[in-house]
Amino acid sequence: MLEVRGLSAWYGAAQALFAVSLHVGQGELVVLEGLNGAGKSTLLQSIIGLGPKLQGEVIFQGRQIVQCPAHERSRLGLGFVPEDRRLFAELTVLENLLVAARAPLVHVRGEQRVSTKQQLEQVFALFPALQPMQKRRALEMSGGEQQMLSIARTLMTSPTLLLMDEPCEGIAPVLVESIRDALLQLKSQGMSLLIAEQNALLAAHADRVITLVAGQTGAHLTP
Ligand code: ATP
Repeated sequence: MLEVRGLSAWYGAAQALFAVSLHVGQGELVVLEGLNGAGKSTLLQSIIGLGPKLQGEVIFQGRQIVQCPAHERSRLGLGFVPEDRRLFAELTVLENLLVAARAPLVHVRGEQRVSTKQQLEQVFALFPALQPMQKRRALEMSGGEQQMLSIARTLMTSPTLLLMDEPCEGIAPVLVESIRDALLQLKSQGMSLLIAEQNALLAAHADRVITLVAGQTGAHLTP
């Protein structure tokens, strides 16, 4: 599904990634681990087209996308949940979800078109805590609730591969459990996931754990 080959990235003259290679198969959960500054965010951003200057290959569903703009990658089925969530703070839960659904995307899962109403039902089934909060503004939610909303909003774009940057970082333990369970449920439904994390919450459930050390891939471990 996703193949990264020999990807290097530079912020100006400073190189942040050094010929990184990895793959994520259909329905796989791959965890990307590494210390602060190892290059996890840079790698995810490079895959979705928001990263710095790149050299190398990013192949998604057989198509070379390294030159594609981010909106095109999103249209092809790449979804990204950034570390800082990027919610519309003044908008309600429902409005945040509908903004994503109104993006000019063809909502296709396999051959089946999914309506916005069905998508809302699916995200509320995954995160039941969001349903009674539909009229609450994002700025009035806890960090964990905002994270659920951020994931739910990305799911409204019908991704086939979901990339997430530290989804459980700094979140109350009880909500961490809900988020982890929701991500595992997505995997069981066939979603492919590439998740950067430092706290090893999902690593035990991963098909593969990839360690980034100073911008380079280290050991490929199978738990
Ligand atoms: P963290 O968990 O702290 O976010 P990370 O593993 O995601 O760390 P990156 O944020 O990708 O690591 O950083 C990789 C390297 O690139 C670091 O040396 C960092 O200082 C550098 N870097 C990241 N963003 C920028 C930027 N916008 N401009 C210049 N250098 C950057």
